[in-house]
Amino acid sequence: MKLYLESLGCARNQVDSEIMTGRLKKAGWTFTQDPEEAETIVVNTCSFIEEAAQESIDVILELAEYKKEGRCKRLVVTGCLPERYREEILSSLPEVDVILGTGAFEQIAKAVREPEYANMCVLPDPDLTELQPQDAPRDLTVPHVAYLKIAEGCSKSCTYCIIPKLRGKQKSRQPEDIVAEATRLIAGGVNELVLVAQDTTAYGNDLPTRTNLSRLMESLVDIRVDDLNRKTPPWFRVLYGHPESIENSFIEALASHGQLCSYFDIPVQHVSSGILKHMGRRYAKDDLYRLFNRIRKRVPDAVLRTTIIVGFPGETDEDFQELLQFVEDVRFDHLGVFIYSDSDDLASHRLPNHIPKALATDRYHELMSTQSGISTENNRKYIGKAVQVLVEESLDKHLFAGRTNFQAPEVDGLTYINTAKMPFGLKIGGFVDMRVTDTMEYDLMGEPI
Ligand code: SF4
Repeated sequence: MKLYLESLGCARNQVDSEIMTGRLKKAGWTFTQDPEEAETIVVNTCSFIEEAAQESIDVILELAEYKKEGRCKRLVVTGCLPERYREEILSSLPEVDVILGTGAFEQIAKAVREPEYANMCVLPDPDLTELQPQDAPRDLTVPHVAYLKIAEGCSKSCTYCIIPKLRGKQKSRQPEDIVAEATRLIAGGVNELVLVAQDTTAYGNDLPTRTNLSRLMESLVDIRVDDLNRKTPPWFRVLYGHPESIENSFIEALASHGQLCSYFDIPVQHVSSGILKHMGRRYAKDDLYRLFNRIRKRVPDAVLRTTIIVGFPGETDEDFQELLQFVEDVRFDHLGVFIYSDSDDLASHRLPNHIPKALATDRYHELMSTQSGISTENNRKYIGKAVQVLVEESLDKHLFAGRTNFQAPEVDGLTYINTAKMPFGLKIGGFVDMRVTDTMEYDLMGEPI
């Protein structure tokens, strides 16, 4: 029984796909990378923005062709696309046999095989669904890097964001479940654990025990790696923080433990007070300046990443200039820029003065070119420095690619390691100490030491 699974979207969706894969392998399925060979095809979808929803539909239609030409008997669609468009999906995509919403992943083993699931649309209320059990079987996409989902859903209501509708209100996992899963992953050879949620820095404030992210991180660094037959401790990284929920204890934790990457991923989205108000973000530009200054004061080697939306309804030239000035002032190490993506099921859709795509695109390019100059200069400070690199890929006989603890997976630059002077290669998934010999706009270059 062969199965092909296509995983789309974000890191949190990747975790869901890895757990579905674990459950299906436990149920006896063999996985193939070739959809033509598969009796069953599963597409775990994304619909965060219109473009992602369209990509999901295109992939579903492409894979549905294997029901005509290949061996595919059942096409199962899971995740955020059915959650956003609900029953509409079954009528608009007759090729699909079974639909599982974000609250029904645990039914995957039955959905791919049981006759009674044919033409079923299983969309339980995301607010009522169970969180992943700590011993959920999981099949990692990358054996040495694991996303650790610490909570599901979001209790905030940014006007441009559909996630609370797709994933429900925030539900934090129990800290002991997260620590147990992390221990299992570390024992299995994982060298980087990336903590993810919709709003990681709000972790725990929905739990009766009222724990928080810094307490969780203290418990994670307390995991005794030497009891797990390991010499080097893994890295822990936190993504998707929120300016409204950054506590001093979180900054303190990252300042106090070498295992915790001093990497601050805090999407600000914008800085103009008018735009922030219409986005439903409750902070002001001065709060952000104070926050990033506070972080840099307490963690001198802090690496700052943020994300910004340009072209939000009502964004004036003055608003945009304010944003540009902020980026020039703070000089982020990493910056992600998105063009506002409209949709009639968003609160922001009803705002006046939508920005023409061409103007929004110009603003996107202007911000990215400003950032490219900043990033090039920022990277120069690493020349001659020794850094620890997680080796990820062999590119050539004497060339490997990896990342340092200030480069997050999939979104930041890479580090290239030249091993020409070494008699042997490097272990993929292992750490190597390297001296930086050259830097580029986003990437670094160096030799092992
Ligand atoms: S905090 Fe993030 S996930 Fe939550 S509503 Fe805002 S943008 Fe969406």
